[in-house]
Amino acid sequence: VQGGLYRDLVQKCVDEYKRLGFSLYCLGSPTPLMTAYRYRELVSMIATTRQVLGTVKPLHLFGAGHPMMFALAVALGVDMFDSASYALFAKEDRYILPEGTVRLEQLSHLPCSCEVCTRFSAKELRELESGERFRNLALHNLFVCFQEVEAIKQAIWEGRMYELLERKARSHPALYEAFQYIFRDEETLQTMALHTPLSKRRGLFLFDTTSLQRPEYRRMTEWLRRWTPSCLEAAVLVSHKAVVNRRLEKLFEMLAKVVGDGCFEVFVHDTPYGLVPLSLYHVFPISQTTYPETLVKQLEDKIFREAAETLAKHGFKKIIIIETRRETYPGYSRKLAHSLQTSLSKEVVYTTSK
Ligand SMILES: [Zn+2]
Repeated sequence: VQGGLYRDLVQKCVDEYKRLGFSLYCLGSPTPLMTAYRYRELVSMIATTRQVLGTVKPLHLFGAGHPMMFALAVALGVDMFDSASYALFAKEDRYILPEGTVRLEQLSHLPCSCEVCTRFSAKELRELESGERFRNLALHNLFVCFQEVEAIKQAIWEGRMYELLERKARSHPALYEAFQYIFRDEETLQTMALHTPLSKRRGLFLFDTTSLQRPEYRRMTEWLRRWTPSCLEAAVLVSHKAVVNRRLEKLFEMLAKVVGDGCFEVFVHDTPYGLVPLSLYHVFPISQTTYPETLVKQLEDKIFREAAETLAKHGFKKIIIIETRRETYPGYSRKLAHSLQTSLSKEVVYTTSK
């Protein structure tokens, strides 16, 4: 595929090729962009080609020779790559690491357990005769490339590709910039969301606000916006800790005592997803998400603001916040009650579960 960074040229090229009916498309070459650390442009080039090509035909990336960008390429829809860089780097005495490259003379230890790195020390590897050194370095470099490919396959299988990308993105500031760039492009995000499974073998890890760009999170917050309540009498807000620790039957017994007669909707109020109706709390990935409590603290303003918007949109007659023994962090629910009272200008009942 020709056209590089120019979408119209890529489009024209792919349209012509489609007429010829190829079963595999190849894109090249990222090497000049990679050597200059121009990862953002590399991302743009791959994303454009994948969008124009659609998702059915496999895409090969020529000259993608460094494991630090394999995950990024795969996330954007590359299925295959090839490169001679493992040998070219070895020729220049450069040792590939999953997150970068170092010159052999910069190594005091070999941070790898491949066949070569367990046989030699860094000093011994440096002192080998040049032909032997080249052969062994090339073997090591190739090993690191294959190891990365296996790590990517495993991450895809587990549904943890995004988490792998988050880790890889921190290998180099230019890679981090490219990673952020992917998530600013609405079209790329929509393509990713479309091909992200609805449920996965393992739950989600959210670390900080960067994690909120992941397709599963975005899709769930979209669903939450479309949810409609079945009762508008009262909205009862509880902590996720109350939902996890009690049997539901017990929780409802306690809620009936607090709320009294009449129907009510229960919401979990302290998750990175914002206000979550209890009926959706166990839908993947909400209750399968692991996150540090500091993330809720970081998102406090957003959670409070969106909670007010949701409650105002549905027009609940009464809002009740129940403080449970264990809070996400001290004072959370009291602060939420105060914030809702101010922004909704209606009475918010604040009570404890004891
Ligand atoms: Zn090695």
